Amino acid sequence: MFRVIRPPAAMAKAAAGWQRKRRSIGVVPTMGALHEGHLSLIRAARAENDVVVVTVFVNPLQFGPQEDLRRYPRPFARDVKLARAAGADVVFAPSAGQLYPDGFQTRVEVSEVTRRWEGASRPGHFRGVATVVALLFELTRPTRAYVGQKDYQQVLVIDRLIRDLRLPVALRMLPTVREDDGLAMSSRNASLSPTQRRQAAGLWRALDQARARIRTGERHAAPVLDQLRRAVSEIPGSRIDYVAVADARTLEPVWRLRGRVAVLLAVWLGTTRLIDNILVDVP
Ligand code: AMP
Repeated sequence: MFRVIRPPAAMAKAAAGWQRKRRSIGVVPTMGALHEGHLSLIRAARAENDVVVVTVFVNPLQFGPQEDLRRYPRPFARDVKLARAAGADVVFAPSAGQLYPDGFQTRVEVSEVTRRWEGASRPGHFRGVATVVALLFELTRPTRAYVGQKDYQQVLVIDRLIRDLRLPVALRMLPTVREDDGLAMSSRNASLSPTQRRQAAGLWRALDQARARIRTGERHAAPVLDQLRRAVSEIPGSRIDYVAVADARTLEPVWRLRGRVAVLLAVWLGTTRLIDNILVDVP
C-alpha cells in the first residue's frame, strides 16, 4: 500500500520491518520537482526490488548561501503522484527540522573526489550531499540505491562513501535522460527563459562534438577543451564555470586521452547554472 512518510523515526521503523522480512529495498534520493530523469530511476528500482522508497528532500546543507535554495521548486502533490505512478511504495519527505533537529552537528566529508569541479565551484556542497545521503541511507536501509549520471561527480562521491563506510548498498548509476534536443533534464531548466531554453541545447551539442572528436582519433585533451570552450561561448549570454576532460574514476584532469574519460561542463545561462557530462571510452 502506497504511503507518504514524514517523520524519520517512522521511516526507520518501516525499513527495519522490511529488513526483518528479508525484503529488498530500492531507494531513489531526490530533491523533488520530479521529471523523466527521476522517473527512470524509480522505474529501475521498481524492476529489481520488493519495496521502492523515493526520498523527496530539498537539502539545505548542500546549498551555498548565495544559491537557489529558496527558489528551488517544491511541487509536492505532483511529485507524490508521479512517484507513485512510476512504482514507488513510499515517498519519504521529512522536513528540514525533522531531519536536522536542534543540536544536529554531524557532517560527512569525502575528500579527494570532491576537490575539483562541482566541489571547487560550490564549497561545502558535497559535504551536504554526503551528510544527507548517509543519513537517508541509515533511515531507509537500501539494498540498492539509484542515481543519475547527470550528476556524475556526485555518483563518485556516493560510491566512495558507500565503500569507505562499508555500507551494504549496491549503487546503480543510470544514464542521463535528455529532452528531444539533447538538453539534460533538470529541475533547474524551468528557470530558463524560452530563448535560453532553446540555446541550452548547445551544451549537449558541444559535448556530442567532443565525443565525436575523441571517437575519430583525437588523443589529447587540449584541442577537445578548446573546441568545447568555443562551442559554449557561441551561446549568447553564457558564462563558463568549468569545462573539463578528466579520468572517469578519479576526475583528475587528463592531458593524454586513454581509458574512460569524463567530459564535464558547468555553464551559467543568465542566473541559471546548468551541468552536464558524457563518458567516453577511448578506443
Ligand atoms: P536531484 O533531484 O536533482 O537531486 O536528482 C535526484 C537524482 O536524479 C540524482 O541521482 C540525479 O543524478 C538524478 N537525475 C537528475 N536529473 C537526471 C536526468 N536528466 N537523468 C537521469 N538522472 C537524473
